[in-house]
Amino acid sequence: MIRAYTIASGKGGTGKTTVTANLGTALAQHGRETCIVDTDVGMANLGLVLGLAETPITLHEVLAGTASIQDAMYVGPYGLKVVPSGLSLQGFQNANPERLRDVMCDLTDRCDFLLLDAPAGIGTDGVIPLTVADEVLLVVNPEISSIVDALKIKILTETVGGTIGGAILNRAILEETDMNRRKIEKTLGVSIIDTVPEDANVRRAAAAKTPVVVRSPGSESSKAFRRIAATLAGIP
Ligand code: ADP
Ligand code: MG
Repeated sequence: MIRAYTIASGKGGTGKTTVTANLGTALAQHGRETCIVDTDVGMANLGLVLGLAETPITLHEVLAGTASIQDAMYVGPYGLKVVPSGLSLQGFQNANPERLRDVMCDLTDRCDFLLLDAPAGIGTDGVIPLTVADEVLLVVNPEISSIVDALKIKILTETVGGTIGGAILNRAILEETDMNRRKIEKTLGVSIIDTVPEDANVRRAAAAKTPVVVRSPGSESSKAFRRIAATLAGIP
């Protein structure tokens, strides 16, 4: 049975795209048919961090009603399917976020796991992804601003009929975290599935346009991403 997750946060830069790319790759490494979709139609960068060079058709055209989802699907590491968004402002303006609901039906026929990389903020393009997945996973950093914004997304998700599945605490620096795990869970009212540490390998991998789970598989962040993927896939 397919599981669809929206990777959301409220605040920008918490690591949604990084988590989507690496969890998707780790699920593919685990042999799960996985598709990741850049629903951040305004500030698309999932294709960029995966080094997809030629993407003439993207989610922009699909949401504009001029292309089908198959046409916008590219192959990433380990057979991961990737639907990038386009970079042009015109493409963003032509994309109708509401069409994502129809696209979901086509996508769910094609994979075991579907991850939607959500935009920051609470505009229409941000709200739809909160409603179409089975669960929303909140990516939070150990800072009060990130937690407060995630709390807004939690409330918004519940208001629009979505389901929060848990949180991923990203960029954690154990000794220096402003807020520890238990305090974050209490403030957010959401349990933390796992923690991904602050890791320079993540930035190096992004610069190399390769997921860290491929470029530095032995790194602590890669271990965390593989652990979370195993949890989602029910692998002991
Ligand atoms: P978002 O999609 O939420 O805006 P990104 O995934 O683009 O966030 O991440 C923002 C920046 O933080 C990127 O430069 C990324 O490489 C970096 N980053 C994300 N997670 C980590 C981490 N665990 N350790 C170090 N850098 C990270
Ligand atoms: Mg992003």
